Amino acid sequence: MAASATFSYQTPTARGYYGEFGGAFVPEMLFPNVEELRTQYEDILASASFRAEFEQLLRDYVGRPTPLFEARRLSEKYGTRVFLKREDLCHTGAHKINNTVGQILLAQRLGKTRIIAETGAGQHGVATATVCALMGLPCVVYMGAVDIERQAPNVARMRLLGAEVRPATSGSQTLKDATNEAIRDWIANPVDTHYIIGSVVGPHPYPDLVARLQSVISEEIRKQLLEKTGSELPDYVVACVGGGSNAAGAFYHFLDEPSVRLVAVEAAGHGIHSGHSAATSVLGTPGIIHGSRTLLMQDADGQITEPYSLSAGLDYPGIGPLHAWLGASGRARFIAITDDEALRGVAECSRLEGIIPALETAHALAALGQLGAGPDDVVVVNLSGRGDKDLDTYLKNMDKLV
Ligand SMILES: *Cc1c(COP(=O)(O)O)cnc(C)c1O
Repeated sequence: MAASATFSYQTPTARGYYGEFGGAFVPEMLFPNVEELRTQYEDILASASFRAEFEQLLRDYVGRPTPLFEARRLSEKYGTRVFLKREDLCHTGAHKINNTVGQILLAQRLGKTRIIAETGAGQHGVATATVCALMGLPCVVYMGAVDIERQAPNVARMRLLGAEVRPATSGSQTLKDATNEAIRDWIANPVDTHYIIGSVVGPHPYPDLVARLQSVISEEIRKQLLEKTGSELPDYVVACVGGGSNAAGAFYHFLDEPSVRLVAVEAAGHGIHSGHSAATSVLGTPGIIHGSRTLLMQDADGQITEPYSLSAGLDYPGIGPLHAWLGASGRARFIAITDDEALRGVAECSRLEGIIPALETAHALAALGQLGAGPDDVVVVNLSGRGDKDLDTYLKNMDKLV
């Protein structure tokens, strides 16, 4: 595509568009909340006080910078130079805390005294409950009643941290219903409440806001690669995509470096065309979900089709508008990995590197064999989270893991 001198994949238009994707499609009653955020987020993120406090908490609370680890046995196996960006070592076990720390600092500067969030598998709920405890703010997490049943340990964590977990009992009683409940709450409490969205999804400015807060991942990768390889630029950056926040963070400072190949890995579930999949970039068509125009899995009547993945964090029927655009413009390549391939990725990383990855992350690892990377190439895989939360799933699938 023709790029103008000022064109950047990083920055959406003033109305929040990445190419044809993005925007803010919200009910009129939500408009003031979104507008308040839109008009203030850039100034707040750029302010010295925000930057100082964000950096300090990322360092002393989250544990940043996370290491960039050269994975020698994986490198040997795939005949290329593999580095793992260790987001699994962040406090609470995944990258999600980078975003919730940033958003709670933003909420405080907007004068908000109450936090709400939606959660599917519970990871974003836990990351939100964590920063609310840290700041002493009341926290309500909406979660589908079915997910509350399925994700008992994370529900317990949120409660321990002082959050109230409210069940969403409409529809399929999963993530999209929890999101609807959170939006309803925000409309009812526009003045005192901030809604912390957990990925690069939702109406503008959320996708840009969350991408910027997660961009610390690629900022660190550049510095660390320079030290370890003599160049800031890898040949490949690989990350899994549910909504797309860890990928957005790992890609961000490479988006406008055309020599860096970006690889987004989705969940193919039982197989892309099996009817049990979450491979949105292949199966999705343009439509509006959770306030933005993007690719989503829907039937001919525009009804959202239920996504499936063994991994709860990739089980989302859309992708963020940035990723829809990276796919449509050819900037990123998308690969889909099945449940069984991801489980092999779990076993391989555990056995070869002594690191048990989250099931989401294992999708990115399982794509290593499909990159076409050679011995002189530098490949960075974003290790988005650790596998502790998935032990139950790993136990049930031990036959495929050992
Ligand atoms: C939530 C989660 C994901 C998926 O979310 P993104 O917004 O696509 O990053 C991936 N990995 C882990 C470990 C997660 O917890």
